[in-house]
Amino acid sequence: MKPATHDDRQCYNRSARRLVRGVATSDGAGVNLTRLIGGRELGMLDPFLLLDHFDSDKPDDYIAGFPPHPHRGFETVTYMLAGRMRHRDNAGHEGVIENGGVQWMTAARGIIHSEMPEQEEGLMSGLQLWVNLPSHKKMAAPEYHEYNAEMIAVEHRDHACSIAVIAGRTSLGTMGPVTGRAVNPLYLDISLEGNGSFIEPIPISYNAFIYVLEGKITVLGERNEQDAVVEKGDLAILDHGHRVQIISEPPTARFILVAGEPLNESVARL
Ligand code: FE
Repeated sequence: MKPATHDDRQCYNRSARRLVRGVATSDGAGVNLTRLIGGRELGMLDPFLLLDHFDSDKPDDYIAGFPPHPHRGFETVTYMLAGRMRHRDNAGHEGVIENGGVQWMTAARGIIHSEMPEQEEGLMSGLQLWVNLPSHKKMAAPEYHEYNAEMIAVEHRDHACSIAVIAGRTSLGTMGPVTGRAVNPLYLDISLEGNGSFIEPIPISYNAFIYVLEGKITVLGERNEQDAVVEKGDLAILDHGHRVQIISEPPTARFILVAGEPLNESVARL
């Protein structure tokens, strides 16, 4: 075995520090969902305050939607995986988010909005992430951005890997439509076929997690004993390091990778 070089030591893998299964809960007017971040298991992962996954083909689980409610001091990011959701807010923004579409809303000093299913049957699935704002941006004017699936670049790599880039920029230079946000987030939706493989540097100061949507993956640690299998429905908090390295098992796997600069500010939940 060749001796470790300076470069090897400077470039180590982020292992899966902790797995979170999420908690079944209900929000809005009675939408059944799984809370991965922001619940009893994992209160927050700075700068991420919440991650919910709503995923059901039973209308009773989603039909009541989220009637008008306020948000303040952070950003809400909705990524639709299946189905349609209509959004309206008190600043006059309105739109429908569909499969593969993203809505990035900066609530900042405050917004009241509703998020209602635009369907009465069939599968509705999506993720909502809350991203904290630094204190000096909490009183800024609200912003609203909507991106449909066609606006989200997909990068195809070797090793049976394709990546939808929602926010940030990959190491190969593919840019997501979401830029200029406070914590410089990286938000990737990664699909692997067969025995696929994905490797990507992540700034060492960032907090990062993955959440598995389909199949089974292994997060490779720096040493074999640090490898961790992560399955559909699991969120893995990544330890600090320079890069993430993941392999998949057949037939397919799909997961999101989200990373951002921690704000290191105290959070008051109202
Ligand atoms: Fe909301």
